[in-house]
Amino acid sequence: SIMPALLSGISASAKRGVLVKGGIHLEQFAKAKAVAFDKTGTITKGKPVVTDFIVTEGHQEEDILDHLVTVEKQSSHPLAQAIVNYGETRSISGQQTITHTQDVTGHGVKAVINQHEWYIGNLGLMKKMGETDIIPEKIDAKRKVLQNEGKTVMYVGYNGDIVGLIAVKDQIRPEAKALIAELNKKGVKTIMITGDNEQTAQTISKEAGLSEWVSECLPEQKVSEVEKLTKKYDVVAMVGDGVNDAPAIAKAHIGIAMGSGTDVAIETADLVLTNNQLKNIASTFKLSRKLNRIIK
Ligand code: ADP
Ligand code: MG
Repeated sequence: SIMPALLSGISASAKRGVLVKGGIHLEQFAKAKAVAFDKTGTITKGKPVVTDFIVTEGHQEEDILDHLVTVEKQSSHPLAQAIVNYGETRSISGQQTITHTQDVTGHGVKAVINQHEWYIGNLGLMKKMGETDIIPEKIDAKRKVLQNEGKTVMYVGYNGDIVGLIAVKDQIRPEAKALIAELNKKGVKTIMITGDNEQTAQTISKEAGLSEWVSECLPEQKVSEVEKLTKKYDVVAMVGDGVNDAPAIAKAHIGIAMGSGTDVAIETADLVLTNNQLKNIASTFKLSRKLNRIIK
């Protein structure tokens, strides 16, 4: 009968590091024709390290960094942690007094310190700050080079001006490439859906062997991308780790969360990769196809 096969499938998966929240998900996964992946924390390790930091003329690196660390200490984003860690390497611990701070989902953080406005995040956030037609030339030139290297660039905004740039590099998970190649070999499409910019998305996608990606996605846009994929490919899985991935994980037929992900991603998912091994996606897919043959 059906149940014993599925139950033994669930327990075999658990031993390998995949928490399956019900037999139905194993049945469905076999039918998946596309798998979408988040970038940061999913394709990459999610432990970005600061590689570059520059400020515009008339500003002091130490002073700006102290403000950045002060603001990012309030945020739980992996990029925030990278900036706090970088501060530590330069003995800067963020000594400013914040009066107000706000997370701008998919864009960055803004804060008020001593009646001055600080913005840290992507270009979209700088646009919210105001005048960004004038990106200092030094900043824009550096930005291009860094993004081509697959680095994530954050701008620093101060009272309406862009006064600095800070970039991080994250490592691709070593098994990502093999997983993507295996899924493609089995005729499953693979797509990256990320909040990061187009150039960085392209570089990381190519490094991981992905030929399709969608960049600059807010959480709601990740959902509509999953919907588009569903129209095209019928049954779609989505793998992610962040708060911003949870709605897309919920929308997909098979939602998959990294074990290191945020609680809301893990709660929303149908499958959880408890030991963060991406390759378990391939073995679970194989298992689910085998089970479907048995129970038919
Ligand atoms: P991803 O989909 O890659 O996990 P997010 O949607 O979380 O990315 O963030 C998108 C972009 O917003 C980041 O690439 C970064 O530029 C900016 N950002 C988000 N959070 C922060 C933060 N705490 N500090 C600085 N920049 C941030
Ligand atoms: Mg992520």
